[in-house]
Amino acid sequence: MTVLINNLCVIGTGLIGGSFCLSLKQAGACRHIVGAGRSEATLQKALQLDIIDHYETDIELAVKDADVVFVSVPLGAMASVFKQIKTGLNKAGNSKAVVTDAGSSKQQVVQLAAEIFDANDGDAKNGRSEDGVVEGEFGACRFVAGHPIAGTENSGPEAAFAELYKDRRVILTPSADTDADAITLVTELWQATGAMVETMDAAHHDKVLAATSHLPHILAFGLVHCLENMDDIENVFRFAAGGFRDVTRIASSDPVMWRDICLNNQKPILEMMQRYRDELDMLYNALESGDGEKLKEIFEHAKKTRDKFTH
Ligand code: NAP
Repeated sequence: MTVLINNLCVIGTGLIGGSFCLSLKQAGACRHIVGAGRSEATLQKALQLDIIDHYETDIELAVKDADVVFVSVPLGAMASVFKQIKTGLNKAGNSKAVVTDAGSSKQQVVQLAAEIFDANDGDAKNGRSEDGVVEGEFGACRFVAGHPIAGTENSGPEAAFAELYKDRRVILTPSADTDADAITLVTELWQATGAMVETMDAAHHDKVLAATSHLPHILAFGLVHCLENMDDIENVFRFAAGGFRDVTRIASSDPVMWRDICLNNQKPILEMMQRYRDELDMLYNALESGDGEKLKEIFEHAKKTRDKFTH
């Protein structure tokens, strides 16, 4: 593999950021990785696990020499992290860096990036041009929004592994004015991890993911929570079989991350929840009226659809 960049800065060295580092290291795609984030304990762990080569507790310092900054923090932390990245890049006069993220919902991230990275708050080293744009300042056109469709229910640097993205899809949702070279570089980095890259409109991404990922997580959390309030809970979980484990595995995912995803993609998720409510009502009515034909018909359709798309 050829080296694609010299310096990668990863903010948030957990499952997603840590796995990105490990796979790029394995591929020999970057020379040096600096980590940054929230707690020093996590950064120390990432260093110990050879995920990063070095860390900074100050995000502004961490980004200064970066060719690429990869942001893999919970969605609720993106705004504050973007502001620190912008200040750090502008203080260092680094307007050529490419910033990308891994957030699970995209419209709000794209909007945040446009607001924060294009705000002329005067912290650039260079002067203002006639049209008011600050020359030499990091701008939103160098930001490429992305989302790897890969993950597990585990979090933190210990959960990271180099093969996470192999043969998995990554969706990029660039805006009309995103720099073409920045998109190419982010695409090449993801390809170096073994992933297949696709491009999609951010609104379309959020609708698709509300259906295929966000709704299933809410159902899993809701199912476990609903059972937890039953009498005789010990026996309910003692006799939980394979089906229960399959359907609820993702309820072990990080609650803060999933709170943020729900709040960030509220409207498309609510639409999917309403659809699912209607479906449950239909199943409820069929069962209440003892309509075995209806139940069988729904189950047959569902089985056929799942078999078609997952085999
Ligand atoms: P994770 O394992 O919990 O890692 C999150 C990292 O972000 C940790 O290093 C954490 O540091 C850091 N962090 C948390 N709050 C921060 C803050 N306010 N400022 C700076 N750093 C902060 O989570 P993850 O699974 O890697 O998820 C990261 C992102 O990827 C999220 O946006 C998520 O939506 C997205 N994503 C996740 C999956 C998945 O299946 N997990 C899949 C695709 C995309 P501390 O340890 O110090 O808190």
